[in-house]
Amino acid sequence: MRFETLAIHAGERPDKAFGAISVPIYQTSTFAFQDVGKTRGYDYSRTANPTRKVLEDTIAQLEGGKAGFAFATGMAAEATVMHLLKAGDHVISGDDVYGGTYRLFQNVMRDFGLEFTFLRMDNRERIERAIRPDTRMLWLETPSNPLLNIVDVEMAVDIAKKHNLMTVIDNTFATPYFLRPFDYGVDLVVHSTTKYLNGHCDVVGGAVVTTTDELTQRVQFLINAMGTCASPFDCWLVLRGIETLPVRMKRHEENASAVANYLVGRPSVNKVFYPGLESHPGHEIARRQMKGFGGVVSFETEGGTESVNAFLRRLKVFSLAESLGGVASLAEHPATMSHASMPKEYREKAGITDELVRLSVGLENIDDLIEDLEQALKPI
Ligand SMILES: *Cc1c(COP(=O)(O)O)cnc(C)c1O
Repeated sequence: MRFETLAIHAGERPDKAFGAISVPIYQTSTFAFQDVGKTRGYDYSRTANPTRKVLEDTIAQLEGGKAGFAFATGMAAEATVMHLLKAGDHVISGDDVYGGTYRLFQNVMRDFGLEFTFLRMDNRERIERAIRPDTRMLWLETPSNPLLNIVDVEMAVDIAKKHNLMTVIDNTFATPYFLRPFDYGVDLVVHSTTKYLNGHCDVVGGAVVTTTDELTQRVQFLINAMGTCASPFDCWLVLRGIETLPVRMKRHEENASAVANYLVGRPSVNKVFYPGLESHPGHEIARRQMKGFGGVVSFETEGGTESVNAFLRRLKVFSLAESLGGVASLAEHPATMSHASMPKEYREKAGITDELVRLSVGLENIDDLIEDLEQALKPI
């Protein structure tokens, strides 16, 4: 089956019990045994749950992986993945990853003896120089948040394989509709399903997809041991969202591309970051490895923090809110919102300035979106 069909039919659908077309929400903590020592396949919902299983199978098939796991949040998925490592292990991570990822690594996992090097992942020599005898993992995010930097996944995996490192990709921004990391030999994919996979800003969730039996067993062990799994109702919401993922992603991209092209010509706009623009430094790589450029556009306004604030206050269709990937357009200010957990000098070194705005371009009529940006930018 092809992507659009899998998004609607993957996993056990229709439901075995009564043929329900909408996956039933098995809102139960525990399951009656058939006989002593004999279950019907499920015993306790932390370990596994039938609603969760359909979501896990669906995400795994969309990514082309072996097995999927659904978590309470994207951060729960990431925290669980970090427990594949041991004290003393070293991780090389992109320097412009999601703010919460940086915080988990720097302010939580370091206290448990993991070590991290953060660097820009656009140069083979730079990555290779950072590899040490105790390096175990390469953590990639592409396109990155909020600057939409592109990592050459083929190059990163090539380095990782030579040095026996596990490669993990946070595929939240691209989604498997635009990027299939397993085609390039990546070992693990993580998602915040909160974003495009769910797509309606009504749930927080995460996912991990594995490629090998060894990783599958270990992640299954960890999700049960750590209790980081998603609830049946949240899984159902994400499942419903995924059914329209292909049509949504197409429209997100159309609208984002129009917004990026509109912003490029504005006198009150300094720089525009969108991998679909030919001027974007990662454009060629993105074109080669992705089927589309996604729905997020970032830009810097002219004229310092006051003009950013004025712009954000004037928006009417775009809401000033964190998060992204929903049908409704959102604007956010990384320096005071999503990336406030990064120290200022670190943020600026990574290129996340106080003038930067990130737009999650939704599915509204494009003319309304551009008119909204126009009226908010004009008086700057
Ligand atoms: C939002 C986000 C996360 C964290 O996910 P939550 O569901 O908010 O816990 C991780 N990575 C990226 C790229 C994100 O955008």
